[in-house]
Amino acid sequence: MSDDVTMDKIVSLSRRRGFVFPSSEIYGGMGSTFDFGHYGVLMKNNIRELWFEAMVRNRDDIVAIDSAVILHPKVWEASGHVAGFTDPLIDCRTCKLRFRADKLEDSNCGLKPSKHPGETPECDLTEPRRFNLMFETTVGALQEEGSRAFLRPETAQGIFINFKNVLQIARRKPPFGIAQIGKSFRNEITPGNFLFRVREFEQMEMEFFVPPDEAEKWYRYWIDERLNWYRRYGLRDSKLRVREHGPEERSHYSQGTSDIEYEYPIGWSELEGIANRGDFDLTQHTEYSTTKLEYVGQDSERYVPYVIEPAVSIERIMVALLVDAYDEEVVGERERTVLRLHPKMAPVTAAILPLIGKSDDMVAKARSLYEDLRRRHSVEYDDSGAIGRRYRRQDEIGTPWAFTVDEQTLADDTVTVRDRDSLAQERIAIPEVRDWLDDALERDWKSPKGS
Ligand code: ATP
Repeated sequence: MSDDVTMDKIVSLSRRRGFVFPSSEIYGGMGSTFDFGHYGVLMKNNIRELWFEAMVRNRDDIVAIDSAVILHPKVWEASGHVAGFTDPLIDCRTCKLRFRADKLEDSNCGLKPSKHPGETPECDLTEPRRFNLMFETTVGALQEEGSRAFLRPETAQGIFINFKNVLQIARRKPPFGIAQIGKSFRNEITPGNFLFRVREFEQMEMEFFVPPDEAEKWYRYWIDERLNWYRRYGLRDSKLRVREHGPEERSHYSQGTSDIEYEYPIGWSELEGIANRGDFDLTQHTEYSTTKLEYVGQDSERYVPYVIEPAVSIERIMVALLVDAYDEEVVGERERTVLRLHPKMAPVTAAILPLIGKSDDMVAKARSLYEDLRRRHSVEYDDSGAIGRRYRRQDEIGTPWAFTVDEQTLADDTVTVRDRDSLAQERIAIPEVRDWLDDALERDWKSPKGS
């Protein structure tokens, strides 16, 4: 097994197998923007679904919301984004490239890419300027005063402004949470590293409202919960760590922030952030909207809850899963590339293959099994080309199991099931395949690449 996974290998596989395409390619491309192909969509659906299951469906204390992308502009004044959602930007007058002043060590000089900006005598850098990351737009037909609005740079504010609705209508009492999944937009100065930093991404955020004196406890709780979620879905322990921000790194309102980091090919980087935001957001929106956002209990107990926020994007999870799963090995003198994804994360759960694509009997059997399984699972039918080639194609998209219909199937109604990782094959009766698959999906799973 190999562990020298580079971002180039992931980009190339993603493209070759139709997970992710560079966007607007027929117009020459648009840097750092991507479109998701069929398998990318299936994988994103799995990530979204498994997050939602853990954060909402399996819990009694969290409800869902889906707020608008374009909110009242005052939301972003209250949240501090208009004044403060900025990155320090530096221009190089020589190579005309732009850099984030706080990420110079991660950037390459335009003239000598082996150097960082400012490290060659030719570099001529400007002083840092503040650059707001929000995309602006205008609402309505006229570009007039008051029509300026923003695309949301995070989903969290759509949750805070609905706090009162949920409290009243969903009859909630802290501790309780509101979860949201949706696109966020940031005009990043230096997007890059494939999907790791893009200008539009799908965020999954949950705001957990708690009595202030319980905030620290819940902050620790959510760090553990989220870390365990990554472990459950197969990310290796040795590639995960929690990094707590020092006071100088934290946002002014934050009472504590930790990043769950993954060791991407670019080094340890933030996968998900978990923050104790205190009562900052609800207090700000109370002030700007003059609507009181607080909890009032039955015995007139009254307080502004603190908020614990786990926040992540589907894109960063997808890169981590692909990197963690990517493997190359030699089997019987042939090299194969395989994505050792957790079965629930894999875009296709099982392939159904007639051994001989030209055999009407095998095709009929395989199609009937496929029609049965597709009602409950993401499965794929393929009868074209040599069986070895078909297996390798499924390995590359990470399909954990392949059911093959062969001569023996026609005699005794059994199929072989081939395991993507061990390559072991066993025979099972067709009427048992459905239960076999259900059981296999529920088994504990550990990456065959180790821990
Ligand atoms: P960074 O320091 O990497 O810019 P951040 O601290 O600004 O990230 P948050 O505002 O905490 O990020 O956003 C929460 C989560 O949203 C991040 O942990 C990450 O998973 C995701 N995210 C943020 N920006 C991007 C982006 N440009 N592309 C993809 N995902 C992103």
